[in-house]
Amino acid sequence: MRVVVVGGGPAGLYLAILLRKTGHEVTVLERNAPDATFGWGVVFSAGTLGALRDADVPTHQAITDSFARWTAVDIRFGGKLIRAMGNDFTAIARTRLLAILQERARELGADLRFGVEVDELPEADLVVAADGANSRFRDPARFGARVRPQGGKYVWFGTDVPLDAFTFSFRETEFGLFQAHAYPFDEHLGTWIVECAEPVWRRAGLDSVTEEESIAFCERVFAEDLAGRSLLSNRSRWLDFPRVTCERWYDGNTVLIGDAAHTAHFSIGSGTKLAMEDAVALAAALERHTDLAAALAEYEGERQPVVERFQRAAGDSATYFLNTARYTGYEPLQFAVNLLTRSGRVSHANLAARDADLVRVADARFAGAAPGAVVPPPLFTPSTSARCGCPTAWWPRRGPPTRWTPRARARAWSSRPPRCARRAGSARTRRWSTTRGRSWPTRCAARAACSACG
Ligand SMILES: Cc1cc2nc3c(=O)[nH]c(=O)nc-3n(C[C@H](O)[C@H](O)[C@H](O)COP(=O)(O)OP(=O)(O)OC[C@H]3O[C@@H](n4cnc5c(N)ncnc54)[C@H](O)[C@@H]3O)c2cc1C
Repeated sequence: MRVVVVGGGPAGLYLAILLRKTGHEVTVLERNAPDATFGWGVVFSAGTLGALRDADVPTHQAITDSFARWTAVDIRFGGKLIRAMGNDFTAIARTRLLAILQERARELGADLRFGVEVDELPEADLVVAADGANSRFRDPARFGARVRPQGGKYVWFGTDVPLDAFTFSFRETEFGLFQAHAYPFDEHLGTWIVECAEPVWRRAGLDSVTEEESIAFCERVFAEDLAGRSLLSNRSRWLDFPRVTCERWYDGNTVLIGDAAHTAHFSIGSGTKLAMEDAVALAAALERHTDLAAALAEYEGERQPVVERFQRAAGDSATYFLNTARYTGYEPLQFAVNLLTRSGRVSHANLAARDADLVRVADARFAGAAPGAVVPPPLFTPSTSARCGCPTAWWPRRGPPTRWTPRARARAWSSRPPRCARRAGSARTRRWSTTRGRSWPTRCAARAACSACG
């Protein structure tokens, strides 16, 4: 089959590699030069690597040989540094990733043409639109495409600051809160993404500054983190991150892959992984089916639900970063735990498995107990009713379990007390308990004596 791929990013190049391995004739049309790229380093999760190893061992080998690896997440907030251990991060320079993919695609006989701006869909048996988040060929009518800005502003810098952890830094300024997402991607350089809410960006006058002024501003905001080092620019402009969704991923002989079909906010570091996994699924479907329509339907059916799950987590994460200013009243440890569990992909239990010490200290602090005391997870920690100031309780009859095993959690959850009669009547409470499912008002333990609850 003759396949033309528009876009020589990770999705397009990786697809070219996999299709050449099964004997298809592949041409990749890329508007930029081979060594030109936007952005700096990209993070990969360990789960991605298995899929890449199975699809093409030499590419997997070359990518993993180039990886920077680390296990810590640093959170700098409120004058404190909190380090969470037990993670498994890897990252690679985007230029290095593209060079590896280009080399392998060429070695397998793909025809890579650079400096070609594609204006119209080319003629071929299969046309693959791998032309990124701003795809020219993602016709809304054909693909049911929607592009929604996520609300914040970000700029993607590099840095020569030596980093040994995924670093989040939150800095309050007179204009509002700025946050940095930073991580190393080789022995000398790291990624440094600065993000803020749009009103903050406008108040700081960043809508009308040059690239140099923007760098100088961000260097001032993060001066303490940068410790005299600089931020590096690579056509680094302030942008909105677009959330791209498509009801259909193919139409006739045109198929979308990677960011052209979907995006996931950069704060969960999964876009490249998803793009390359799309290529794996599409190549496998084309190998399994001789009928093109059947292959494309299988590709869409396999990938859409997976991508939707990531997009939900990415949406939660993006919303968190858009609203971080809400949480700046938290003390640093609580802020850190909230940040680490923001997207729902890392739960309290999962965080405890990664870094038991951190979670033990955080839970004890939340329960108002001494460090090292055995306390329930925050969800089951009795708190004080905001309405009447009385202590609230979850387990009026049996008392809290001594060990918080999954079974004990489930039992506590199912035996939660009935709602306080007064509060159950309020519209806000009803909305809470029905729409959020997992939230409900706690009963005042001193009900009999309390005039507000009783
Ligand atoms: C700030 C930021 C941080 C990120 N961090 C991570 C991370 O840590 N981990 C991660 O996995 N992902 C990350 N991502 C996401 C990742 O960059 C993308 O998901 C990934 O690049 C998608 O690959 P792609 O091949 O689909 O698209 P792209 O990489 O965008 O490639 C599309 C290619 O098509 C070319 N093109 C476009 N139009 C035309 C045309 N008309 N003619 C010819 N060529 C064309 C472009 O030049 C480009 O080379 C991040 C994204 C951003 C914005």
